[in-house]
Amino acid sequence: MRRYPYLSEASLDPNDPHRTTKFNDYYFAISDPIGERQSVFIDGNSLPKRFRSLQPGSLIRIGETGFGTGLTFIVACINFLNEASRNARLQWISTEQYPLRTGDLIQSIKALPLTTDMEQLAEELIGDWPDPIPTCHRRFFGDGRIILDLHFNDSTSVINDLSGTIDAWCLDGFAPERNPEIWEPALFKAIAEKSHQETTFSTFTSARKVRDGLASAGFKVEKVPGFAKKRERIEGNFTGNRTVNPWTPTSSIHSKHSIAIIGAGLAGAWTAYAFARRRIPVVVFERQTPAVAASGNPQGITYAKLSIEATPNSLLQMQSLAHLKNWFQIFSADNWNQSGVVLLAKNDKERLHQKKLVEALPSAYPLIQSITRQEASILAELPLAYGGSFLPDAGWLNPRGCVWELLDHPLITVIPYRHVRQVKRIEAMSLLEFEGHTLGFHQHLYNAVIWANALEAQKHVPMPLSLKPIRGQITYVQSGNYPKIPICGDAYVAPQSHGLMTCGATYTPNSENLTPILEDDLTNIDTINSLVAKPIWNHGHVTGNRVSIRTATPDYMPVVGQVAESEIWKSLLENLKYDATFQPTQPLPYIRGHYVLAGLGSRGTLTAPIAAELLVSQILGEVLPVSESIRDALSPDRFFRRRLVRGLT
Ligand SMILES: Cc1cc2nc3c(=O)[nH]c(=O)nc-3n(C[C@H](O)[C@H](O)[C@H](O)COP(=O)(O)OP(=O)(O)OC[C@H]3O[C@@H](n4cnc5c(N)ncnc54)[C@H](O)[C@@H]3O)c2cc1C
Repeated sequence: MRRYPYLSEASLDPNDPHRTTKFNDYYFAISDPIGERQSVFIDGNSLPKRFRSLQPGSLIRIGETGFGTGLTFIVACINFLNEASRNARLQWISTEQYPLRTGDLIQSIKALPLTTDMEQLAEELIGDWPDPIPTCHRRFFGDGRIILDLHFNDSTSVINDLSGTIDAWCLDGFAPERNPEIWEPALFKAIAEKSHQETTFSTFTSARKVRDGLASAGFKVEKVPGFAKKRERIEGNFTGNRTVNPWTPTSSIHSKHSIAIIGAGLAGAWTAYAFARRRIPVVVFERQTPAVAASGNPQGITYAKLSIEATPNSLLQMQSLAHLKNWFQIFSADNWNQSGVVLLAKNDKERLHQKKLVEALPSAYPLIQSITRQEASILAELPLAYGGSFLPDAGWLNPRGCVWELLDHPLITVIPYRHVRQVKRIEAMSLLEFEGHTLGFHQHLYNAVIWANALEAQKHVPMPLSLKPIRGQITYVQSGNYPKIPICGDAYVAPQSHGLMTCGATYTPNSENLTPILEDDLTNIDTINSLVAKPIWNHGHVTGNRVSIRTATPDYMPVVGQVAESEIWKSLLENLKYDATFQPTQPLPYIRGHYVLAGLGSRGTLTAPIAAELLVSQILGEVLPVSESIRDALSPDRFFRRRLVRGLT
């Protein structure tokens, strides 16, 4: 069984905010912490010079083991902001298995002799500091020019499964004699596998174990004078053979390219926003107006349905949940309400599942708490039929309002009433052909096209995406009785907003019928009455309804990524028919500039943001915010590969 990663918090010395009792060691050289970071990691990797030589629009990806107090990150950011051109970008990918509590981080940072610029960044870091949830937490700094991917997990597992390549490594972490677990051959091997011919490394130690480990993994290792009292330390560069993952698409798009997004629902809006927050302009084409389809409901519940096993689906939902507090701050109070959500357990089977889930989940942070019927009723301010669990970080939002807020950005151009009819490939470009609502026929040429148009994506992608429609009807209810927070069970009931509450939704697979059905309203009313101790609502309270179509996949995970050249794959992967574990030796080809984000199913309000970040990172050659295993589990070609294995194509 795949278990959730284990995480424990750092133990700071109460008398010395720069020392951890766990390893009986300091986070940095206490005589001159900033000087040491600058000399060992920044200068050791020649970062000032490399920052200066970054072309406008290009990116440098720096990996770090052991984030600690974030001081190296802060010093690197200041160097980057001072040296790099205005349009260059920095991605800092770091690991930390013993994250500091916010209070300890504050104490530790406040005791450092920071410059004013550093203090400002430190304030931002403290404000954005993630809860101790073992996942990758993505944060943006420097007006979107700097991405921090903070992986709360152990370095070796993170780097082993990292999806992307690193340009410079800052190998930190406590001294090898105090923290021997991290400095193991498995870590050096993982680091080498994520390096290329120009990748450098630098570290504060010259311990033999580290020297030999890096050398045998393929690094040229050089001894150089150490910082302050340390006699020597090592730095160097990768000279081994580059490891190529044949299944992973490589980026060919940069920030100066023209980018079109098709579809202005949650998928399209979050993708557009992900580009815009990196200061990259995009155009969004929508056949009607934004949020007219599945994303047009006035209320949706943003919560996770996690499994006892740490499946890719569950890890993705957990990561999404971990980001709500930070990423959803952009929304107005009218559109996002982090109220917490009650998830009822109506029988012994569901109760047992929830109990096991609470036990299986990482314990450092209460993602889900068991609650009694009485506690659930107090939270809901309504007498409920059952107890169950409470997800404090979950909430409810107005998907329609959120789509409009996301698209309201100077770098996002929305062109409504443009239905993409077909796309032609002209060398490296894509020619989109539309029928405009009022203006007739149009053509536009783009370097990158992102299909964020739900079920319709299937029509434009030459590969089976296995998308299926699931009709859903929500019902609007006006009564004197509303729950204080959302209640979910066989249906959901949301708190009232502007005098109405939403409940639902029906679930009719393989139907695209958009006509409301009276019986569906009655079903919704019956189902929400089954969640409360005594029936409260009746059909007299129904004031309206709305029908829309979910786009789901057979494994209930979205499809996210570049579109494969399926005809070429077919011939290169012929052997899959005979050997399901067959690995190609050459990288597989992808359609240049064609990407898809669809199949958000019933969890789109939760997973759309991280799916969009994954996609935009892939497009721009950043290290992904999810592991390679999760990228693979979400890739649009997964169904096609399964068909090849079964000999069905
Ligand atoms: C009834 C119902 C209740 C739901 N409740 C919840 C909930 O409580 N919590 C939750 O997390 N999720 C919920 N969901 C799921 C969530 O709403 C979806 O996952 C999400 O809205 C999907 O977003 P999307 O952008 O992929 O699709 P859509 O919102 O359908 O957007 C696709 C857009 O593409 C446009 N388009 C299509 N083809 C073209 C073309 N060729 N050219 C130009 N434009 C095109 C469409 O007009 C549309 O605007 C619910 C869904 C339904 C249907």
